[in-house]
Amino acid sequence: MIAENLAVLRQKIEETCRSSGRNPAEVKLIAVSKYFGVDAIIEAKNCGLTDFGENRAQELTLKFEKLGNDVTWHFIGTLQKNKVKYVVNAAELIHSVDSLELLEEINYRAEKIGQVQKILLEVKTSEEETKSGLETETEILSLVKRCSELKNIELKGLMTMAPLTEDANIIRKSFRDLRNLKDRINNKGYILTELSMGMTSDFEIAIEEGATMIRIGSAIFGDRDYSKDWRQV
Ligand SMILES: *Cc1c(COP(=O)(O)O)cnc(C)c1O
Repeated sequence: MIAENLAVLRQKIEETCRSSGRNPAEVKLIAVSKYFGVDAIIEAKNCGLTDFGENRAQELTLKFEKLGNDVTWHFIGTLQKNKVKYVVNAAELIHSVDSLELLEEINYRAEKIGQVQKILLEVKTSEEETKSGLETETEILSLVKRCSELKNIELKGLMTMAPLTEDANIIRKSFRDLRNLKDRINNKGYILTELSMGMTSDFEIAIEEGATMIRIGSAIFGDRDYSKDWRQV
């Protein structure tokens, strides 16, 4: 099923890139494998997928123990300080950095194992209470500056989640706001290249608005069964 899903998805990505004048090679597909087991990840890998996203530290750790660096791991969920060391060990890119405290801890843990951790800052571009992310531009700019001082941090760009709504204009505005914010940061002399935005329900809009990474789960793996323990899937 993953192969068929992926064929449909790839076609949609290519069509959207073509109609918005973008090169599909500029849009990295991150397969969000949360709640799915190692078998599903291996199946997806055999279909040519290389990058996988997880949103819980423990789940990432267990999958990393099984698959190691056979695939590239992305951490996309809320990250608690006490879990940072596990995530730094496994993830190529942490998409969800949303506080100074978390940033400092990531730098500390990365230094301890002699690596430079690539990160994105998560920005809240919607009014939704349930969404996380940095809210004020002042705070974002001060974190960007701090990243440039930390030796074991490499800031690559920004991440956001659009609000849950049927209104495409609201979703588009959220993605456009993120892109404009990246441009303003770069105008201050920084070099951010990545925009991680777009999921199953809104990736076409995200690509049109400049996404360089899209995070897709259900369109690849099917619906998640939250009542099941993924280890039994
Ligand atoms: C689960 C998740 C996704 C993927 O969601 P789908 O709707 O299944 O594509 C993307 N980003 C984040 C942060 C997620 O937690």
